[in-house]
Amino acid sequence: MKENLTLQFLYPDYEIPSDYKSEIAKTFHADIVSSTSEDLVLREIADVVVFDSFAGLNFFPFNKEQTYVFRSTVKDFLDSHRMLYPILPLINRANIVFTDLLSITKEDELDYAKVLEALNYKIADEYKSGHGIQINLLTDRMLLDGMNNCNAGDETIALCPDGKFYVCPAFYADKEIAFPIGNSMDGLDIKNPQLYKISHAPICRICDAYQCRRCIWLNKKATLEINTPSHEQCVISHIERNASRKLLALIREIGQFLPEKEIPEISYLDPFDKIQDNQ
Ligand code: SF4
Repeated sequence: MKENLTLQFLYPDYEIPSDYKSEIAKTFHADIVSSTSEDLVLREIADVVVFDSFAGLNFFPFNKEQTYVFRSTVKDFLDSHRMLYPILPLINRANIVFTDLLSITKEDELDYAKVLEALNYKIADEYKSGHGIQINLLTDRMLLDGMNNCNAGDETIALCPDGKFYVCPAFYADKEIAFPIGNSMDGLDIKNPQLYKISHAPICRICDAYQCRRCIWLNKKATLEINTPSHEQCVISHIERNASRKLLALIREIGQFLPEKEIPEISYLDPFDKIQDNQ
């Protein structure tokens, strides 16, 4: 609280004891809970509900107050994206997060562009009926005027069950590259904190895929550098950026929408290729 941080609690699937709950309730915070949580009351009032699959969506009591996160493999999203269509009128915000981005193939990239284009029509239908839904992959870039990334290690940190701080929960969970950045007794100890800032990410700072997660864990995993992105992350984010450009045009067919907004046409999917071409 002294650092003016907002607390986000990630709950386990089982119900936690009520004295934990009353302690948590004393602090301004956000609740993040799994869609399969046994704590049905918490699941109903949580700020964010996380799904690990697209199965069983028809039975979930969606509402427009909560944000929904769908964790999925790229392949599962390509196969199951239609399961999202019926819930679009029921929600205001969904974030789709890929769990295996580094294994994406050339064929997946082509399919991803097609799937986003199909989803564009469904989202445009919502806008036509006056429902300004947000789906991170497609509407974020359309609404943003500058980089809006995860910013773990700079704007957010995770306090994990071992009492230590990590850049984010992924760094705690991935024992191969896990490294703590302090602990709850001694405080934060972040080496080279500037490297977590966009100003010290030489490729990302000249990029305009503003909606990109710019996942620090993925950077570390793929390139061993926290401020150097993987080819896969860049390509996926640029496919989304280009699909947002098309969505903007689709919504404008119905009337005036974000009149000042321009998403320029570009010919590359990885900014690294552009840098090499310029050299
Ligand atoms: S698309 Fe690539 S260069 Fe652009 S912000 Fe994302 S990770 Fe960085």
